[in-house]
Amino acid sequence: MPAALKTRFAPSPTGRMHLGNARTALFNALLARSAGGTFLLRIEDTDAERSRPEYLEALVEDLRWLGLQWDEGYGVGGPAGPYRQSERDPLYGALLEKLIEKGVAYHCFCSTERLQSVRRAQIDRGAPPRYDGICARLAPAEAQRRLAAGEGAALRFRVPPGETVAFEDLVRGAQRFGTDAIGDFVVRRTDGSPSFFFSNAVDDAAMGVTHVLRGDDHLSNTPRQLLILAALGWDAPRYGHLPLILDESGAPLSKREGSLALATLREEGYRPLALLNYLARLGHHYGDDKFKSLRELSEDFHAESLGSSPSRLELGQLRHWQHLALASEPPDALWEWMGEGVHRCVPPALRGPFVDALRGNVLSPVEARDWAHRLFDDPPALDSSSREALAAADPGLFPAALEALARSPLDYHGFVAALRTRTGLSGKSLFRPLRAALTGTHEGPELARLFDLLGEDRLRARLRAAALTHQDARR
Ligand code: GLU
Repeated sequence: MPAALKTRFAPSPTGRMHLGNARTALFNALLARSAGGTFLLRIEDTDAERSRPEYLEALVEDLRWLGLQWDEGYGVGGPAGPYRQSERDPLYGALLEKLIEKGVAYHCFCSTERLQSVRRAQIDRGAPPRYDGICARLAPAEAQRRLAAGEGAALRFRVPPGETVAFEDLVRGAQRFGTDAIGDFVVRRTDGSPSFFFSNAVDDAAMGVTHVLRGDDHLSNTPRQLLILAALGWDAPRYGHLPLILDESGAPLSKREGSLALATLREEGYRPLALLNYLARLGHHYGDDKFKSLRELSEDFHAESLGSSPSRLELGQLRHWQHLALASEPPDALWEWMGEGVHRCVPPALRGPFVDALRGNVLSPVEARDWAHRLFDDPPALDSSSREALAAADPGLFPAALEALARSPLDYHGFVAALRTRTGLSGKSLFRPLRAALTGTHEGPELARLFDLLGEDRLRARLRAAALTHQDARR
């Protein structure tokens, strides 16, 4: 029986998570769930200088907030731990010894200066920069003597010449790399830490990962990783390299720039499912535009539907999914989402009608708060086009509106019918000034709902104020 499918997300805690990382995590989670497999979280913190505990915490928080719960790994446990690379040195040490014994790894004593000057010379004569192999030819006894004398050494993988590494990429199809283009590469640095190629590859195999979806900036690492695993006699996972996400200016997203950190979007009030629905379609074709739950996203996820052309971030699209996500939230969740600013401003008895009125009209808690102030602070701020609409209103409108209100204070439709009859106005000439008078702005929720929220006293006060503004403007 083939091994159950296992995917992983393997972030380095060196910055806040951005939409690109989130998409990688999502695709791996969806692939695992679509096949009833396991989704694993491994922390790649071998770079002691750049890895920080606060980024690790933030990462876990971001993933949980997105709803991408992992089944195995950091913080959850499992059969192949520890799941932080900084705690896996004993395993790396043993495997590196094995590579030395087999003669596929050797000590390299070259100084950084020497490596740099070799590299510069290669670039100057137009040759691809790669290690020139000087230490590959050292006799083992000589290497031992230099090590015993306390000389520092990195460990390099001996790449076999004249071979081809071929694999079938889950996203990009057949791939072939000639080994002659790959110089012998470092698997352990002089400071004793494992290199990315090494720890990343052996951990996938040791943890039983069967499928890896990751950014295509890692594509050229893959042949090296396949060589390492083949040398150890271990099964490699299947790799799929996802096209990069470009920001709105066309540059690749970068974790360190932090421009579109997930945390920023979360603080702006984006809903997890809005992001997931958006991200799931960046490089994966669903064949429909339906707003989906996480379960539906995974049920309809197929590796064959992954695309290989880069995607560009479009915030307009994200707002579209935000709209749909908010439309699907229950009233209590929407009220919570609106936050403190709204809770303080909206009278408790009007909480339900406020949520109903605003649903579909706001995309962020800030917008909801602005509406709360617009409705419940007096007088409402008038924007310039509302001021114009009040000035241009039919002179009979506001007096008639005050009379109609006195007759039908609790019935919007009765109020409007009476107003139409009394003034003969309809359409824009009626509703533009009316909306301006009641809310101070032209856009927004249905007037009928706002009428109920404002209540008789406030409606009267606003109509009176509008009548005065109209008269002043006419003088
Ligand atoms: N730690 C690597 C990164 O964050 C993981 C690469 C991979 O998924 O293999 O880029």
